[in-house]
Amino acid sequence: MNVKRSISQSESWYERAKESILGGVNSPARSFKSVGGHTPVTMARAQGAYLYDVDGNRYIDYVCAYGPIITGHAHPAIAEAVANASREGYLFGTPSVWEPLYAERLKAAIPELERVRMVNSGTEAVMTTLRVARAYTKRSRIIKFAGCYHGHSDAVLVAAGSGPSSVGVPDSAGVPASTAQEVITVPFNDVASLRQAASHYGEEIAAILIEPVVGNFGIVTPHPGYLAEVRRVANELGAVLIYDEVITGFRFRYGAVEFDDVKPDLYAFGKIIGGGLPIGAYGGRREIMEQVSPLGPAYQAGTMAGNAISLRAGLACLQLLSDTTIYERMETLAKRLESGLLARARAHGVAVTVNRYKTAFTLFFGPEKIENYAQAMDTNSQQFSAFFHHLLEHGVHLAPSKYEAWFLTTEHTEAMIDETLAIADSAFAAIRP
Ligand code: PMP
Repeated sequence: MNVKRSISQSESWYERAKESILGGVNSPARSFKSVGGHTPVTMARAQGAYLYDVDGNRYIDYVCAYGPIITGHAHPAIAEAVANASREGYLFGTPSVWEPLYAERLKAAIPELERVRMVNSGTEAVMTTLRVARAYTKRSRIIKFAGCYHGHSDAVLVAAGSGPSSVGVPDSAGVPASTAQEVITVPFNDVASLRQAASHYGEEIAAILIEPVVGNFGIVTPHPGYLAEVRRVANELGAVLIYDEVITGFRFRYGAVEFDDVKPDLYAFGKIIGGGLPIGAYGGRREIMEQVSPLGPAYQAGTMAGNAISLRAGLACLQLLSDTTIYERMETLAKRLESGLLARARAHGVAVTVNRYKTAFTLFFGPEKIENYAQAMDTNSQQFSAFFHHLLEHGVHLAPSKYEAWFLTTEHTEAMIDETLAIADSAFAAIRP
């Protein structure tokens, strides 16, 4: 397997795609812009832990569609649920039995979801939690954390201002400065900056929005006690604490993140809970959720929300995950990969750090431990790019960004890990400083 492959068919599909699809991709993370250009590989099919491209090459997949695929691609139980829904009706525009069945399943795993609403993406879920928090508190400002990604709604496409007590600046063209002014961005894992922002804006703060374990500038865990402090600050301000669990929900355990015994007021979910089909969900304390129409004054709706295909696929996925021994198995594989990567990098004199939390990790090129976005940005982009391309050319699929995670699925095996490590070994040898 350790040979460089041809991707000539991928090249022609990508050229063709660019003539109709903006930039040739339906989500910018799939382009190879941040790894020196090149042609992204075009996939033809996916099965288990493997992707297969249009040239017939096979890849061990550690991207897993940026998180949703946790039981492997095209899992038979999920495929069957989708097929059943396709025969029995997939969109009713009325209440369906699948909605309470699904919501009860989520609530059984996460009792804090006193009330929940289904939407179609993580973006929608987070966007709506902010609206609900604003409706509940009758305030407008939001505190979020540098480097965390919360989808592409206006309010969260905002970068930090010049200090923790300054308002944000738009992070994307098209986001109004007036929206950015409602958002304060502080560094993750930094209590003093959070407290400074909190004391500056006080009772103007509607919500604190956080990824409880970060997935978007690499896997970064909160310092012990940090989330408890975030909870305390939210309580002192009378602000709503929102956990964005779009990546983390059901990724590390059967349920939400457990850290410091802290519970948020609202959650946003997506990705895994739909078993690979489009989905999002938000929910939490009943009193806050009752702001939402038809019970309350905050509006949120969706033609596709709660469609039976996504819910039945999600139910099948959650059913598989409820055998919690699979999390232990995935963690064992993740540990094997982590220690193998560290040993091989060390043997070739390449400085790397692995940030692992249970079943997911990020390999950073640099000697320092990564605890915030600034440190993640400071890692070596050239070495990452060279490593990424070497692995791809030899049949291992990573995300084309140094900030993304490697995810395990129930379908990865020890043999796949060992094959990955052999290829990584030759990559480290090639990029040795
Ligand atoms: N929140 C987090 C933490 C995410 O990682 C993402 C997507 N990567 C989103 C929200 C947005 O989800 P979606 O892409 O489904 O809109």
